[in-house]
Amino acid sequence: MDADDLLDRSRRDGARASAAAAAGLAAAPARRAVIVTCMDARIDPALLFGLAPGEAHVLRNAGAVITSDTRRSIVISQRKLGTRTVLLVAHTGCGLASFTDDEFSTELELDTGLRPPWRPGTFADPAENVAAGLRALRRDPFLLPDTELRGFVLDVATFALTEVPEPT
Ligand SMILES: [Zn+2]
Repeated sequence: MDADDLLDRSRRDGARASAAAAAGLAAAPARRAVIVTCMDARIDPALLFGLAPGEAHVLRNAGAVITSDTRRSIVISQRKLGTRTVLLVAHTGCGLASFTDDEFSTELELDTGLRPPWRPGTFADPAENVAAGLRALRRDPFLLPDTELRGFVLDVATFALTEVPEPT
């Protein structure tokens, strides 16, 4: 699907349906929640958590990795838009478990002559990725101390969520 196909879909129904769904909503998420998850196209956070438009912030990246940009968005979400709950959701069968940081950086270097300035953020075990993310967030001096912070691994076959305890 190219850009024109996407724009056609927006013109046909998407824009009208989006405007209707967002009518009268405030920018601040009504459920005061932030969901951080992977960009995996199979995961629909609204469907998974029964969310309607206007209820939560959803932050997505490759792997549901807590990066400096994820932290930036969470802190702005909390301080400027009133959110207090953060759910971190990684998943089984994640592409980020299929190669290593070094392999990917070397692949880019062979193609472009440059190693990326960022860490690709690969991991072997999604539960370890969630534990590392919870630890990083809890140590973030800008995260509100009363944040309800919980982490999960989503099974992409059943979409069941298994909680990962917050590391002590
Ligand atoms: Zn993934």
